[in-house]
Amino acid sequence: MQVCDDCADIHFPPTPVCPACLGDHQSWQIVSGDGVLESWIDLHRAYWPGFTDDLPYRVCIVKLAEGPLLASNLVGPSEGAKLHAPVRVIFEQVTDEITLPKFRLAGG
Ligand SMILES: [Zn+2]
Repeated sequence: MQVCDDCADIHFPPTPVCPACLGDHQSWQIVSGDGVLESWIDLHRAYWPGFTDDLPYRVCIVKLAEGPLLASNLVGPSEGAKLHAPVRVIFEQVTDEITLPKFRLAGG
């Protein structure tokens, strides 16, 4: 995640200036991959043809332990899915050049 060198704000998506202090000195920081489930929805219709084979799939909003919100997919068993349930990142290699962060319920 992008982190501001001036005020230490960690934010996503990356921006040319810090959204907290408007400073333009920013770096990158590895984050834990831990977070909590803020919301999720199951999609049963493919709004984009590339997702047809994935139906139904689950889109989620995760609040990372470091603070930023991230839209992703909730994958794996979903028993225990509830507001603020702990989640952990996994990385799915989609192509040789693209890897996506997705989330599983922690401990599941
Ligand atoms: Zn800042």
